[in-house]
Amino acid sequence: MGVRWTTFVGANLKTAENIRPVCAEQGAVSAARMAGYTRILGLAVVGIPQADHDSGLTHRTLPPCGVCRRTLSAFPEMRSDTRILTAGIDGDIIHTEECNFNELVQLHAEREE
Ligand SMILES: [Zn+2]
Repeated sequence: MGVRWTTFVGANLKTAENIRPVCAEQGAVSAARMAGYTRILGLAVVGIPQADHDSGLTHRTLPPCGVCRRTLSAFPEMRSDTRILTAGIDGDIIHTEECNFNELVQLHAEREE
């Protein structure tokens, strides 16, 4: 049996102002887990750039938030070398950044200390 792979998508889910939204990344990884996939090769996040609530870092793209970084860190399907591709929409310009999951977590962890 060969290696099987596929793409899972998610969307941010906001229900009310005083309830924290569920992020698209968590939905997509949860769907992969439920389908029996055991490794996340890459995660792509697209959105309008905003300052990270936890680390205060600003990017030209939209990286996974602090809650997602902590939650995904606990998922065995996410590996330190899982590729993270982020894109930020700025009018007609689309910025992109790429790193691995470990680099993403370390970058924000240094600012959170
Ligand atoms: Zn998030």
